[in-house]
Amino acid sequence: METTPWRKCNACKKPIGLGSLYYVCSVSTCNGQRTGYAFCSVSCFDTHVPVARHKDAAAIEMKAPLVQQVIRTVSKPGTSPAPRLSNENREALIIASRLKEYISSQSDFNTSGGVIDVLSDHIRILCERAIDNARADGRKTVMERDFQFIKTLK
Ligand SMILES: [Zn+2]
Ligand SMILES: [Zn+2]
Repeated sequence: METTPWRKCNACKKPIGLGSLYYVCSVSTCNGQRTGYAFCSVSCFDTHVPVARHKDAAAIEMKAPLVQQVIRTVSKPGTSPAPRLSNENREALIIASRLKEYISSQSDFNTSGGVIDVLSDHIRILCERAIDNARADGRKTVMERDFQFIKTLK
């Protein structure tokens, strides 16, 4: 079976076939959607590390998609990213009944429905910051410690 080239190795320029293994850099600025460095082998990745002047980087094994995806990233240089709290992104992140139970157990008060949305927005903002912290740390897992900034919030 002939492999259809998916994309080219950033080091040796050899094609990486659809469905074949390739390697990305563990540094988040290198494996982002926009930069998207891909290497056909660990040795090609090794040539990238000194060029990019990484102190600490690892090759992450990935598998190329089986079908060609047409990803067109509409990037307008200089414009800020799309507003994070768009309307379609306003799903409730907390369980309304639990929140209402909690508030009534604490105070005997009722909770209006809009509170869920406000708190969900707050959680989204906290999560965005935690994601940024994880990314700055070179991780792809958000951990408890990424929320430590909450302690300093007033
Ligand atoms: Zn290569
Ligand atoms: Zn890199």
